[in-house]
Amino acid sequence: MARSVVDLLCDLVRIPSVNPLDGPVGPGVGEAGVAAFLAEELGGRGFEVRFQEVAPGRSNVVGRLRGAAPGPRLMLAGHMDTVPGGPAPRVEGGCVHGRGACDMKAALAAYLAAADAVRPRRGELLIAGVVDEEHRMLGAKHIGAVGPWVDWILIGEPTDLRVCICSRGRVLARVRTRGRAAHSSFPERGDSAIYRMAPVLAALERHAAELQRRPGLGPLPGPRLNVGRISGGGATNVVPDECVAEIDRRTLPGETVAGVVEELRAALAGTDGRVEEPHWDLRSFETDPDLPLVVALRDALEAEPPTGFPAGTDAPYFGSPVVLCGPGSLDQAHTEDESVPIEQVERAARAYAAVIEALLG
Ligand SMILES: [Zn+2]
Repeated sequence: MARSVVDLLCDLVRIPSVNPLDGPVGPGVGEAGVAAFLAEELGGRGFEVRFQEVAPGRSNVVGRLRGAAPGPRLMLAGHMDTVPGGPAPRVEGGCVHGRGACDMKAALAAYLAAADAVRPRRGELLIAGVVDEEHRMLGAKHIGAVGPWVDWILIGEPTDLRVCICSRGRVLARVRTRGRAAHSSFPERGDSAIYRMAPVLAALERHAAELQRRPGLGPLPGPRLNVGRISGGGATNVVPDECVAEIDRRTLPGETVAGVVEELRAALAGTDGRVEEPHWDLRSFETDPDLPLVVALRDALEAEPPTGFPAGTDAPYFGSPVVLCGPGSLDQAHTEDESVPIEQVERAARAYAAVIEALLG
């Protein structure tokens, strides 16, 4: 008899898989344990299983189950890594607690339970565990680069089982002003980079206000800009020779990193602020609300019209159309006592099975 989705989830939560960030993998650090578990579970269900080595000791695992007839390809994908910390695994109060329970081992368990309930009659069902969503998104980027590419990808990030078809992107950049240092007893001999930053900040505030007037896209709020940090000067008795403002710019689908930089430079024309090339960015994504996967999920869950996901994920990097819909709440992800309601995990497993039936039946 197939094991329950709760048992599968507890097994997954018991295997630590903390993202190593830029460090080495080791006991409890890295996704290898979860990948091995998934490989065995998928193999036991008749999936053909492959590993994709993405970085040393870190592999995506991709299982593939073919229907008898040709047809479309559906992938259920999810990241295997977690952030550090969190409670010991336990079942309590109708929830499974433990690091990764909600973000997003619940969905991985629900994928396996769905595969127990229904088999594809046509096309292909793929189930993929990917590495490194919590840091550089190497696993999704690898699939985006080498495949497998499919017709639809469902990612069960914790959306409270809402159907999410878009999210904003994010660009982090610095603006720098330079001056000339001098002793503060004769500041007129120097040139203050902090004073030079003042008109830059005023221009950034005007640019932010202009961005805020732009419309959003579907359920997504419009673009935004925040100056989150400013630093400059070393001591009160020195005229500062450098000042840096750090910018967080939220982007809509259709906006590019180059376009964001160009707008910043235009907004700062006539000031001494130099916009540096962004040091970090996350893509936005947008999926057709009429995609058959969206329709199938809404039918299965009797869900409201699709909406946007408020956080960044690896969804934009898979290279195939993605829909986010999974058990648990984003408010629970990364918290001290992360948990996921069992009722939602079971409902997700039933919905995923209905989706497989609708698209590959
Ligand atoms: Zn996640």
